[in-house]
Amino acid sequence: MRVEDNAALWHAVREAQEVVPILVLSKNPSYNADTPRRRFVRRAITELDAQLRDRGTRLHIRFGDPEREIPAAAEAYGAGAVYAARIYDEPGVQRDARIQRALQQTGKELHLVKDRVMRESHEVLTAQGDPYKVFTPFKRRWLALSEEVARPFPDAGTMTAVTPVAGSVTVDKLGNPGYALHWVGDEAPGKRLARFLRTSLAFYDIRRDLPAADGTSKLSHHLALGTLSPRRVYWEAMDLQRSRGRSVRPAVEMFISELLWREFYYHILTAFPFVLKSSFREEFRAIPWRRSTLAFERWKDGMTGYPIVDAGMRQLNEEGWMHNRVRMVVASFLTKDLHVSWQWGERYFMDRLIDLDLASNNGGWQWVAGTGTDAAPWFRIFNPAMQGKKFDPEGAYVRRYVPELARVPARMIHEPWLMSQQDQEAFRCVLGRHYPKKLVEHAEARELTRKMYARPA
Ligand SMILES: Cc1cc2nc3c(=O)[nH]c(=O)nc-3n(C[C@H](O)[C@H](O)[C@H](O)COP(=O)(O)OP(=O)(O)OC[C@H]3O[C@@H](n4cnc5c(N)ncnc54)[C@H](O)[C@@H]3O)c2cc1C
Repeated sequence: MRVEDNAALWHAVREAQEVVPILVLSKNPSYNADTPRRRFVRRAITELDAQLRDRGTRLHIRFGDPEREIPAAAEAYGAGAVYAARIYDEPGVQRDARIQRALQQTGKELHLVKDRVMRESHEVLTAQGDPYKVFTPFKRRWLALSEEVARPFPDAGTMTAVTPVAGSVTVDKLGNPGYALHWVGDEAPGKRLARFLRTSLAFYDIRRDLPAADGTSKLSHHLALGTLSPRRVYWEAMDLQRSRGRSVRPAVEMFISELLWREFYYHILTAFPFVLKSSFREEFRAIPWRRSTLAFERWKDGMTGYPIVDAGMRQLNEEGWMHNRVRMVVASFLTKDLHVSWQWGERYFMDRLIDLDLASNNGGWQWVAGTGTDAAPWFRIFNPAMQGKKFDPEGAYVRRYVPELARVPARMIHEPWLMSQQDQEAFRCVLGRHYPKKLVEHAEARELTRKMYARPA
């Protein structure tokens, strides 16, 4: 979804005389629903077309199933080959294999290139040639590989415009989606990256866990949709470290480490494709999760009575994004306080997140639920009130998203149940009227979790 540093486009432009940039969109009517992600995607399509027009060409859009549309378009344009970025989830991999077979039948080639990750799964293996299952050794190996991460590709340059064939339209024919094309957190990827490098990266190690601070890059949606390449983010951070020296080193190392979590989850998704359907760890596949739609609805709506959980869910619902620390807290709360399956949570995040990434979302949920790749984590049960006090000590994050708690002083904001009836009246936050009472008792829920995980069957 970008022209700059686009591996597939660069190869195509180098190897062919004419290139037709094609995007296939689903016909699904939900495509037009006004959600933060749709706004972002729609805006990205417009931006992509603008970037292509700057280079003399246009984006050609088709609607339907890529399995049909890509071979049909290749035929209609008389293309010799199709270039695309490789994807790594099994249904996608199989779909691309079918597209390849269809193209081959008419003598055309499909070139899938590495673009979504810096190193593919098969490039980072153990000494025995196996995939990694634990992050730290994976990261060590990734960093120790002698081959450097590729530098961003040069600009594709000017391209000749090709007239759209029947079945292809240009962006102006997409019509008005009926909603604004901007959303909370809207910022062009290059601009956001530059601002993060200039103002925040140096403090990343200190501020990345504080949800009220603008301490992280907020680049995840660009990396997920492909409006920005991981190569560029990696190299700009490394170059900054080289120019600014030792003082920023811990911060840059920590930031790179987070980029490597993304790489790690792609590694897992490629090597263990079953994770999209079941727990990574076999022993936890039989956990008897509660099928409580009521508890699930309260969690989704940010009405659990636990302020940091509610603030996170409301941020997700409003903005399509949530701070990483809070993602961990809400995911822990759903699985270990409400005992609802991580797969329900994963599905809800898939619907809502502007930065939806199958690999990181699945990996994040399984990691928190303790069913995933981490060594021995199931007994890590976040206490939501303690998490709030530690990472949002003034309550600024909670107040931003839960206005009912706006007047509650910092010392009680993460434990509103400590307020006396008089306090509740004074701060206009009567529990059960203005703000919900606790949906569950954390201490009791925690005991049940221990039993569920200790004897999952
Ligand atoms: C339950 C759960 C679900 C998640 N779902 C997604 C998802 O669908 N898409 C997604 O991109 N991230 C997901 N994450 C990871 C993480 O929360 C986000 O990547 C991060 O909050 C994005 O903010 P940022 O760009 O400011 O991150 P920064 O802290 O600035 O990190 C830079 C980049 O590194 C990557 N990254 C950072 N932390 C992680 C991580 N823990 N795992 C994988 N990659 C990471 C992201 O690409 C991010 O943009 C999930 C985490 C959890 C706990």
